Amino acid sequence: SRAAAKPRSPPRTSVALPTLSSPERVVYPDAGITKRDVFDYYLAAADQILDEIGGRLLSIVRCPDGIAGQHFFQKHAGPGFGESVRRHVITENDGDQATYFSVDDVAGLMNLVQMNAIELHPWGSKVDTLEQPDRLVFDLDPDVAIGWSEVKAAARDVRDRLAETGLASYPRLSGGKGVHVVAPIAPHADWAQVRRFCEAFADAMAQGQPQRYVATMSKAKREGRIFIDWLRNGRGATAIASWSLRARPGAPVAMPLTWEELARVRQPGRYTIKNAAARELPAFVAAMTARAPALPL
Ligand code: ATP
Ligand code: MN
Ligand code: MN
Repeated sequence: SRAAAKPRSPPRTSVALPTLSSPERVVYPDAGITKRDVFDYYLAAADQILDEIGGRLLSIVRCPDGIAGQHFFQKHAGPGFGESVRRHVITENDGDQATYFSVDDVAGLMNLVQMNAIELHPWGSKVDTLEQPDRLVFDLDPDVAIGWSEVKAAARDVRDRLAETGLASYPRLSGGKGVHVVAPIAPHADWAQVRRFCEAFADAMAQGQPQRYVATMSKAKREGRIFIDWLRNGRGATAIASWSLRARPGAPVAMPLTWEELARVRQPGRYTIKNAAARELPAFVAAMTARAPALPL
């Protein structure tokens, strides 16, 4: 069974941080934000972000030439990853062995930042229980014609339907255009079971209100609707980490909220590199995670 309280990261002063190269390089040209600013942000938000990503395999988005340059989505450990980045050899879905990675402390986190990682995308399971996911993510992707209040209403709709199955959930601003609804679960069911549950859940929403929701990736069917992206819940899939920066103009940050907060948020870019580190995990999210129920099957 799960421990209620997870250990916090070690005190920052006790960990040797990597030397930052090119600290003055501009990462966000629109906002004049440098690599040092990114480093300082992740250092300031390290406790929150390590609580979110610690012990999980990661994909990262690296932007060596800033967000206006090429973005590299990387899921395999590569050269330049220091000792503080933990390597994990796992079997991929196609049966091949490959080396993935996680970071469990500030040094590992800052090592990724030194490697020009901007976005951090964890798996929905922890390495210790890799085949048993511990969070469901419903990623609401609105068509361009959809307004913000409709996205918020869709998130509440997901919440209410999840609650009917016995699952509590919280909303997370993705830092992009949408909202994720996250439901912590105890790590018992396997990926196939979780995937089936999430697909059936999204299908039911789309069948109930076909004018509002769609549960398939097809771009044509998404016109004027919100895509309930349940595909985040497969083995090897990821979703943006809470407190991760996004490689998008304005340096937005993904942020978990209470439902009351979501109701008051006027735009999805509410949290950025400027105000995100000062924010702590809402107590209700921590409590929900500590007593996560098993997936209802
Ligand atoms: P938005 O709110 O703007 O949709 P988002 O983070 O939800 O932001 P999506 O495009 O919906 O962006 O992607 C959802 C998640 O799927 C991402 O956070 C990421 O973890 C994963 N993902 C997206 N693109 C890729 C990719 N090219 N390779 C691997 N995973 C990806
Ligand atoms: Mn999305
Ligand atoms: Mn999506």
